[in-house]
Amino acid sequence: MDCLFCKIASGEIPSLKIEEDGKHLAFLDIHPCSKGHTVVIPKKHSAAFAEMSERESAELFAFVNGVSKQIYKNLNADGLSIGTNVYEAAGQTVMHTHIHIIPRYNGDGGGSMHSIVSSCSAEEKDMKYLAQIQNQIRK
Ligand code: 5GP
Ligand code: ZN
Repeated sequence: MDCLFCKIASGEIPSLKIEEDGKHLAFLDIHPCSKGHTVVIPKKHSAAFAEMSERESAELFAFVNGVSKQIYKNLNADGLSIGTNVYEAAGQTVMHTHIHIIPRYNGDGGGSMHSIVSSCSAEEKDMKYLAQIQNQIRK
């Protein structure tokens, strides 16, 4: 398959590896948002996080957890932003599941998850409307 991250997983394309096990690889992002910005991938191809099985995503997140602790400690970071862009609407550019671990430093000028998007009108923040959304998601 002509997939950039499959090629990084197989070693066909080189990467600056941080950690690896049989199913996962963590490597430095080539365009880092902050010092130590790391991408974690499952070696098995899936297009996006939402297409992984629950079991495989649980294993992926366990691996992410370990790598994130290593980054936080060894780079003396003050915090971490951890997330995944799912599909183009969310900004995904490489269609192979990956989790970003972005070390955060006091005063780095970055925002929180809340700064990604702010598209809800006042009506959409109303409790009655939120209850409708709750039902829609749970159905
Ligand atoms: P996305 O935008 O899909 O969530 O994230 C893809 C990430 O992969 C981007 O942060 C981008 O900088 C990184 N990236 C793209 N191509 C390469 C590459 O060839 N090597 C490495 N190490 N990172 C890459
Ligand atoms: Zn792939």
